[in-house]
Amino acid sequence: MNMQANTGNLKQLDQSHHLHPFTDFKDYATNGGRVMSRAEHIYIYTAEGHKMLDGMSGLWCCNLGYSQRSIVDAVTEQLGQLPYYNNFFQCSNQPAIELAKALVDITPERFNHVFFTNSGSEANDTNLRLVSRYYQCQGRPEKKLIISRKNAYHGSTIAAACLGGMGPMHEQTNGIDYVHHIEQPHWFEVGPDEDPNEFGLRVARQLEEKIDELGEENVAAFIAEPVQGAGGVIIPPDSYWPEVQRICNERDILLIADEVICGFGRTGQWWGSETYGIEPDLMTFAKAVTNGFQPLGGVMVADKVADVLLAHEGEFAHGLTYSGHPAAAAAGLATLNILKEGNVIADAAANIAPHFQRRLQELADHKIVGQVRGRGMFAAVELVKDKSSREPLAAESAGALFCRNTANELGLMVRQTGNAMIMAPPLICSTSEIDSLIDMLGQALDVTA
Ligand code: PLP
Repeated sequence: MNMQANTGNLKQLDQSHHLHPFTDFKDYATNGGRVMSRAEHIYIYTAEGHKMLDGMSGLWCCNLGYSQRSIVDAVTEQLGQLPYYNNFFQCSNQPAIELAKALVDITPERFNHVFFTNSGSEANDTNLRLVSRYYQCQGRPEKKLIISRKNAYHGSTIAAACLGGMGPMHEQTNGIDYVHHIEQPHWFEVGPDEDPNEFGLRVARQLEEKIDELGEENVAAFIAEPVQGAGGVIIPPDSYWPEVQRICNERDILLIADEVICGFGRTGQWWGSETYGIEPDLMTFAKAVTNGFQPLGGVMVADKVADVLLAHEGEFAHGLTYSGHPAAAAAGLATLNILKEGNVIADAAANIAPHFQRRLQELADHKIVGQVRGRGMFAAVELVKDKSSREPLAAESAGALFCRNTANELGLMVRQTGNAMIMAPPLICSTSEIDSLIDMLGQALDVTA
């Protein structure tokens, strides 16, 4: 097929028939978007042949870039062998079993069990089921309230959207009444006049205040991303997580770390929890577990929870047709193999991330940059209209002017969240590829200013 010749037609069909996620339907039907046709290494190509350096690893998932033949081969081989069978009703399959073991091997010792889903959203739904089962098994069904944070993102099923802290998503769901939200540790937006560590302690202590307000006997768990990703790569002050961990240790609630973005090396170790010294009881994962090549998610369950669940008779009434899908599990196994054998995470943390963060800081003095923040292979550049008042650049200008028109045209894919430009480049970038990314970012800032 001549892709070049058919591009106009493809775009037209897309605009006419395809409703896109997190998209203004009316705007898209009128203006359309970009049709991606192929990808190689860390570059994506539109149907017109426009090449872009992918500063977002797809949607935070292709940590190993796009040219991982062994993952493709593993999936192909598995499809030829056992393309599908379910894991319900006393059945299992080899890749799912091996992936469960491989995941246990890369998590802290207290994690020895996993429940598979197809996505991060479903994994967070699963967390709610596991948590309520955990307390029911102990004869404490009243412990069912969940505390989360404003501006958190935990997915887009109704339960996951309610767990998250994003207003427009709540408006579509009518909410669920057992989720309560506390402040996010976003120093630049919420508390820039305070000392960052005092701010971190203050917002962490809102967890304790909320537990007291709701009654410890009613609160089941606190859920949080080690670094809020979709909310704007919100790097918590150093004081934040130790205080949250202290509160979780002292109060009778479970800690759920949503590692869907932070997991698999983004912050410099296998898990964001390790980077921040957190000891969660449940960990949500998805995305980079298969390098984005197949849909797969899940929950790692620590012994404290698993021991209670396993000691209890009676069916756990939850599951998905594709839980532990053999082809997705094969992709997961091949991905973990590359990450382990290639020492990719430690290598990126030692050699690429410091360069990325150092070069990003060079943009901090730019007149429309309010803050540059990051950790590992994860960063945000907050755009402002006025540096001294920190007045944000209008989100529309940030999105249309900076992202879509300028950065994309220059050949860089970054993402906009409000007035923050967020980046999560593949861990396999070289330093010179990071230099190109920063150079294009700098040029886009100049054009936008
Ligand atoms: N949790 C976090 C932290 C996420 O960033 C996301 C997606 O971006 C999800 C959950 C939902 O994952 P999925 O889109 O696979 O359902």
